[in-house]
Amino acid sequence: MAPVIQVSNVTCRFGGFIAVDNCSLSVEKGSITGLIGPNGAGKSTLFNMIAGNLAPTSGRIDLDGQDVTGLRPHQLFHRGLARTFQIAHEFTHLTVLENLMMVPARQTGESLLSTWVRGGRVRQEEAAIRDKAEDVAQFLKIWHLRNEPAGVLSGGQKKLLELGRTMMADPSVVLLDEIAAGVNRTLLKDLASDIERLNQERGYTFFVIEHDMDLIGRLCDPVIVMAAGRVMTKGTLAEIKADPAVIEAYFGG
Ligand code: ADP
Ligand code: MG
Repeated sequence: MAPVIQVSNVTCRFGGFIAVDNCSLSVEKGSITGLIGPNGAGKSTLFNMIAGNLAPTSGRIDLDGQDVTGLRPHQLFHRGLARTFQIAHEFTHLTVLENLMMVPARQTGESLLSTWVRGGRVRQEEAAIRDKAEDVAQFLKIWHLRNEPAGVLSGGQKKLLELGRTMMADPSVVLLDEIAAGVNRTLLKDLASDIERLNQERGYTFFVIEHDMDLIGRLCDPVIVMAAGRVMTKGTLAEIKADPAVIEAYFGG
């Protein structure tokens, strides 16, 4: 299988501190790949570089076989790479459907908001975006919440909405950074099964930073382990848990 994300010898320095140290890894198309490691390992920094929020100090990142090193987040978004973001404070008074409809379509880069602002084209576009938002709300089973302001949702429901916002872009790869944090067990199951269904039914590739080992075990194969800025190993969760170096760095103590 072809890698959809290829990270080659990527380093990120913050002043004298090396947060990501000459990392190389790949995420295969169609996989749900996990990324685990102790706090401060460099996982989020690596995601920030893959998503274009941070430029690597050195090294190269390829998306679908093309060098995308240093591209901006919106450019990567147009190439099918999406990451979840917390619902911005200004959006908490908008409804669930409105929050979905605000996401720019990948092809045109226009959200419903921009068509409103331009006052122009187009009921047709609006209808298509609304249809899609409704499809997403149904898929994620947040349909009953569609007219609620995002601000009243529970932590877990907000995560579903954040995932829904990525779906509006028809992404091929989705980066999830600790999406399970603070989510109750019931919604966590929903979230996990949504991720599985998006992977199986819609072909999304996922790259997932997660601390919750149950979730990792259920969803992720393979799992990549980072510690102190470096990639230690990659394998199934069972293989990783049996690796003495990993036990020491991560499960140890
Ligand atoms: P993880 O997500 O694995 O917990 P991070 O990537 O957030 O780790 O952080 C890795 C290291 O880089 C940490 O020591 C963190 O303090 C440091 N770091 C992260 N972002 C910055 C920044 N913008 N400036 C300076 N240091 C940072
Ligand atoms: Mg992090």
